[in-house]
Amino acid sequence: MRDSYLPLCTPSITDAEIAAVTTAMRSGWLSTGPKVREFEEAVSAYTGAKHAIAVSSCTAALQIALAAHDIGPGDEVITTPITFVSTANVVIHQGARPVFADIDPRTFNISPATIERQITKQTRAIIPVHYAGLPCDMDAILAIARQHNLVVIEDAAHAIGTIDAHGRQIGGNDETMAAFSFYATKTMTTGEGGVLTTSDPKLAETARHYSLHGITKDAWKRYSAAGTWYYEVLHAGFKANMTDPEASLGLVQLSRLESFIERREAICQRYDEAFRTLPELITPLNLPGVRHSRYIYPLLVRTEYLKIDRAEFITKLRDLNIGTSVHFIPVHLHPFYRDEFGHKPGDFPVSEWMYERVISLPLFPDMTDEDAGDVIEAVRYLVETNRS
Ligand SMILES: *Cc1c(COP(=O)(O)O)cnc(C)c1O
Repeated sequence: MRDSYLPLCTPSITDAEIAAVTTAMRSGWLSTGPKVREFEEAVSAYTGAKHAIAVSSCTAALQIALAAHDIGPGDEVITTPITFVSTANVVIHQGARPVFADIDPRTFNISPATIERQITKQTRAIIPVHYAGLPCDMDAILAIARQHNLVVIEDAAHAIGTIDAHGRQIGGNDETMAAFSFYATKTMTTGEGGVLTTSDPKLAETARHYSLHGITKDAWKRYSAAGTWYYEVLHAGFKANMTDPEASLGLVQLSRLESFIERREAICQRYDEAFRTLPELITPLNLPGVRHSRYIYPLLVRTEYLKIDRAEFITKLRDLNIGTSVHFIPVHLHPFYRDEFGHKPGDFPVSEWMYERVISLPLFPDMTDEDAGDVIEAVRYLVETNRS
């Protein structure tokens, strides 16, 4: 057993990130300034989206996307139960109703066939989540959206760097808006932060207004020589702007993203090779022609073949100094969602089946081969000593 605790993940911060943040602080631009604009241009170039709006979180990006599409009271928005709760919370904050559609048992992404069953006259939008960084079946989802005249907002919190089977970066799709997260645990980070991408200039303009109080001009120009004191408010917007120190951190992280994903992929391949042959485990899927960002390694433990359940498996891994997590507790099972919308266990059986078995293993670019070996050894040991 290892003698130090291996966390689920840690951000990879080098002297380059520290120097970039320091430079930003010395520049005097502590809030939104030229570095935010530079970061937006870099994300736009990377994803292929014509417009990128840097904001304070992915949660803010999702809500701004809904607001920009004027989604509100009386509207329904379809998403997956297997996501972080903010995907559904933002729908409620807009006054609309979140409606869940179950996942596909192999990809863990929202199932297009299930989406179709949840469409009503009130449905306005679909928020697919590229779970773990594996792209959703966007061809099928967009076909449904076109047929029913629905908006598609991609929750791309896990998917910066994911390239779909058409060779396109997530975020670059002309028919959608996409919300990225740069939270501290994500594939790349700005500490807190997110970006909303779109190729629609009108939506981009509205989203930009919404990101800063609904004000019609760029706030950073307001304080520069080029600016004047006058502005107008077109919407009751949010306070969700990114700051220059965050964007400076993001620029360095983005320049390292390809190496992060390569390292993550190498670790995932080791996990796959080690666990594929054990019938008690189900390793995560990749799809042909897809470059998976590998944000999470969700391993399924087939508890029907073991003496211990998933919670005990996690406790025992913790005792062996291996940190793990569960992505995610299905949103419909949280007390608020049960009480408010009458959800109950059994509503989304595939999501619940997956939830009862899933464990996210340690995965981050600074992990050593030895760390990965320790994880493999611990998981194998627990399977071999707990067969029923
Ligand atoms: C992390 C996460 C979010 C929220 O991201 P923030 O930047 O923390 O707001 C949204 N959706 C999913 C699927 C996530 O994993």
